Amino acid sequence: MKVVGLIGGMSWQSSHQYYRLINETVRDRTTPLTNARSLMYTVNFAEVEALQHAGRWDEAGAMMADAAQRLERGGAECVVLCTNTMHKLADAITGSVQIPLLHIADATAAAVKAAGIERIGLLGTAFTMEQDFYKGRLTQHFGLEVITPEAPERERVHRIIYDELCAGVVRDSSRAEYVAIMENLVTRGAQGVILGCTEIMLLVSPADCSVPTFDTTALHALAAADFALSV
Ligand code: GLU
Repeated sequence: MKVVGLIGGMSWQSSHQYYRLINETVRDRTTPLTNARSLMYTVNFAEVEALQHAGRWDEAGAMMADAAQRLERGGAECVVLCTNTMHKLADAITGSVQIPLLHIADATAAAVKAAGIERIGLLGTAFTMEQDFYKGRLTQHFGLEVITPEAPERERVHRIIYDELCAGVVRDSSRAEYVAIMENLVTRGAQGVILGCTEIMLLVSPADCSVPTFDTTALHALAAADFALSV
């Protein structure tokens, strides 16, 4: 079995979901006592969040490169960056290590395509919803049409991620807001919705949406389990 390297802590509320999902998948495909061989390097999210909101992306990129190198030195055979947003800095990682990065948008887009969906809604941080590193990959590499919420809704989606979900706070009132925002995307033609932040799965389940949802945490963890079991 190959050694999976995870960059966690963004936030740890979702990192431990990755850990659980990877090991459950490997167990289900092998034997009850088999788990994935893995390393997780956890960064301090308070530092990451401060750099993000200050637009200090070069420093954040250096932090991601350092984390990837620590994993490589420890024997990891791939890098799994346990956040959508920080894939903005994917090049900083791939440029600093020899081992491959399992890109979260690729795992997600493959599932969306397999479901026969062409117009997809996207929820995530403002960085993910508004910048090109994520949407651009979905459109240019996979031919998807991406719909994001209107500006005031994007602000609510973003604030609930940072103020609540990343702090481990899950509120029914916030779930109701997400449900309304997802239905607005459906009204605008979305055939499915990407839960494009790794903590959204703590708040929203498939039953909360009238179209299929794509949980990036689960899909990325599945890609990691596939890698672990690959020959
Ligand atoms: N985990 C979130 C994501 O998937 C947000 C936290 C972060 O900024 O990394 O984008």
